[in-house]
This record gives sequence, C-alpha cells and structure tokens, in this order.
Amino acid sequence: MSYVNIMEYEVIPTETFKIIRGCAGCGCKQIFSSKANFRVNANGNHLDVWLIYGCEKCGHTYNLPVYERINPAKIAEKEYRSFLSNDKDMVFKVGTDKTIFARNKAEIARKEIRYQIVPLKECKAALESNNIMIKLYNSYDIPIRADKLVAEILKVTRNEAKKLLAEGRVSVCVENKAK
Ligand SMILES: [Zn+2]
Repeated sequence: MSYVNIMEYEVIPTETFKIIRGCAGCGCKQIFSSKANFRVNANGNHLDVWLIYGCEKCGHTYNLPVYERINPAKIAEKEYRSFLSNDKDMVFKVGTDKTIFARNKAEIARKEIRYQIVPLKECKAALESNNIMIKLYNSYDIPIRADKLVAEILKVTRNEAKKLLAEGRVSVCVENKAK
C-alpha cells in the first residue's frame, strides 16, 4: 500500500515589503523601501499615520497611509504609542499587511520579498521516500516557484527538483492562508 507523506511549511517575510512606484526624483519607476519609521499627524479630531518609504536610488520619500483622518479615540493607546516610538514590531506588521498596500494601490515589489520557510510538520522518513506532498501555507502571497521550494526543502538541485515534480514523486500544494 502506498501513502503520501505530507510535510507542512509556512513561508513568512523577514522584512517589510518594498513598493514599486514612479519616483518624482528619478523620473521613472523605482523600488521604494521602508525607512522603518512612522509619521504621525494629530490635528484636533483627526489623526493621520503614515509609514515612510524612500526611493532606493535617490531617497525621494513616499508616505504609505496607515490611517487617514480617523478619530484618535478609535486607536488604542498602546498602538498609538507604537507609532510614535517607531516600534519595530509595528513597522513589520504594517509593512507586511497586504490590505494596507491594496487600499492605497501601492504595488508590492513581490520579487524583492525576502522570506524564510519555517517547518511546521516534517519527518525524516518523508525526506527519504518518493511520495511526498509539500503543503505550504503562504498567507502573505509571496511568489515562490515550486521547484525552488522543493530544492530548498529536500536539499536537491533545481534540476533534480524539477524532475521529482515532473515524475509526480513530489507534489506541492499552496494554501493562501495561515495555518
Ligand atoms: Zn528616485
């Protein structure tokens, strides 16, 4: 009787997403990366928060709106303080929150995303068998080619990985959600 060994992994970004946008300084499309700090503007009953980005070529800045003209009472004190102190965890949370990029029509530079693959369920026997299904939880929609994933996990070359996939000895199933 044959059975499939299922191994589970999660892919998570290791740094904030970069943005592709037209740069007024360079006069063409460039890659903007997060400067890891927020700008907070409190004006009476309105509060604005941005995550600051800079063109990697010329430094021209772009402010990614996190909150626009909201009632300050709607933000928890702890969250507000994390913006003021440029809290690293908050920078990471905002800078990898695809809903914020989508809302602002900010194009994520997907090819630039640095990530790590974290094992959730792995077994040695599976690695030696010829019938493996690799299940990848990819809630950040990070583009990863199946052969690259297989090569990395099974420690084989890209060509060997392509062969394993073509022969059906290894299959990859991607879930666009968190485990
Ligand atoms: Zn520029």
